[in-house]
Amino acid sequence: MNDYTLQAGEAVQGSNFVKTCIVESVAHLINKCPDKTLLYSHSKNVYLAIVKDIHYENDIMALKQLIKQLKSPININGVEYLPCPKIGFVSRYIEGNENAKELIRFATSALIQIRGTRHPYIAYNEKEDNLLQKKFKLMSDLPRALKNSEEIRLYFQPIIDSKSEQCIELECLLRWKHPELGNISPFSIISWIEETPLMQDLTLRVIDLAIEAAQVLSTENMFPKIAVNLSCYDLYFDKIHDKLKLATLAMSSGQLIAEITETALIKDLDTIAIGLKNLRDLGINIHIDDFGVGQSSLSYLTKLPAHSIKLDQSFLRQIEADPANLKISAGITTIAKELGFDVIIEGVECAKDYQITQYIQPSCIQGYHIAKPMPISKVVHWLKCNQFKQEKDVKGYLTMTTII
Ligand code: C2E
Ligand code: CA
Ligand code: CA
Repeated sequence: MNDYTLQAGEAVQGSNFVKTCIVESVAHLINKCPDKTLLYSHSKNVYLAIVKDIHYENDIMALKQLIKQLKSPININGVEYLPCPKIGFVSRYIEGNENAKELIRFATSALIQIRGTRHPYIAYNEKEDNLLQKKFKLMSDLPRALKNSEEIRLYFQPIIDSKSEQCIELECLLRWKHPELGNISPFSIISWIEETPLMQDLTLRVIDLAIEAAQVLSTENMFPKIAVNLSCYDLYFDKIHDKLKLATLAMSSGQLIAEITETALIKDLDTIAIGLKNLRDLGINIHIDDFGVGQSSLSYLTKLPAHSIKLDQSFLRQIEADPANLKISAGITTIAKELGFDVIIEGVECAKDYQITQYIQPSCIQGYHIAKPMPISKVVHWLKCNQFKQEKDVKGYLTMTTII
C-alpha cells in the first residue's frame, strides 16, 4: 500500500484504517509470494521477504512475476485499492555474504534507492550504498562542523559591473572541509539536506559568516554587495527571516542580496513570491539564480519582487557548442533588461567567454576569468590590487550600490 493512501486513509477514516490495511497487506503478501517465502515485518509499511529457491540468474524474471502478483487489488472495508509495491532486493550469492544483518541492510539500502523513483524494483548496488553511507556520515557530522570555523567556511566570488569592470558584488559560496572526506561539494550538501532542519542551521551559519565578512570589508572601507544563496525552504522559517533582518542592520543599506534558484521558484511560485516580498520589505535585493535551467520564462518573473536574473553558465556552454545560441542569450538579456531586471551572466571562464559577453551585454559578469571564489582575506587583497578599483573609494562602491 503506498504511503499516501495510508496517510490519507488514516486522516479520513482514523487509525483503524491503517490497522486493517496492515492486516490485509500481510494476508495479500502471504497469498501472492512464492511458497516457502519467509515474511517479516521490517518497519511501517515495509516487509522483509526471504524468498527461497530463486537463483540470481532468475531474479529479474521472478521479481517481475512477483510484482505482477502483488499489484492485484486489495479489498479494505469493501473498497478495492491497487497496491504499488516497490522491491529492494539482494541475492546472498552475489555478495558472497551470509551475514543476515548485512543482507537486511543491503536490501534496505536498495529500497531507499528506489523510493521516489518510478521503478518497481531495484537490486542492491555497492556504489549507491557507499554514497548513501557517505551522505549519512556527512549529515551526522554537519551539526558538529557548523560549530567549527575551520571546517565550514565561506568563499567569495567577485561580480563586476560590465561597463566599469569594477567589483560591485561578492557571492558567498559555502565550503566544507571535512576532516576525513576532504572538500565536500556545496551543491551535494544542499541537495542532501535541503528538506531537513539542517538546511536552516546551515543557512543561519552562512548568514553569520556573511555578516562577519561584511564587517572585515567595512574596516577596509569596502562595501560591495554581499549575495547569500538561500534554499526555497529557508523562506518558510521565521528564524531565517530574523537572521536576515539582523544582517541588514549589520550591513550598509541595500548591501545584502538573496539568491534563489529559478527551479526552486517554479516549485511553489505563490508561496515563494510572498517569502521574497518579505525579504524585499527588509531592504534585501533578490537575484533569480541559475536562470535558464528551469523554464526560462520571463513572464512569471514579472510577478516576483526580484531585481536581477543570473543567466546560468549553461548559456555560455551552449554558445560554445553552437554560436547560433548567442542570439538567444542576447535576446533574453535585452528583454529582461527592458522588463527592468539587471542581468548577471555566470560562468565566464576565459577570455573568449568574456568577448561573448560584449555581444550579450549583461549588466554584470561573474566567472573564473574575473576571479575564482576565495577566502575573505584574499578578497581584500584582490580588491586592493586592482588599480582601477583602488581609484574608487567608499563613495564609489556606494554609488554603484544605488545604481543596481
Ligand atoms: P551557484 O549559486 O550557481 O554558484 C556558482 C557556482 O559556479 C559556484 O560553484 C562557483 O564556484 C562556480 N563557478 C563560478 N565561476 C565559474 C566558472 O567560470 N566556471 C565554472 N565551471 N564554474 C564557476 P560552487 O561553489 O561549487 O557552488 C555550487 C552551488 O552550490 C551553487 O551554485 C549554489 O547553488 C550552491 N551553494 C553554494 N553555497 C551555498 C550556500 O551557502 N547556500 C545554498 N543554499 N546553496 C549554496
Ligand atoms: Ca548563486
Ligand atoms: Ca548560479
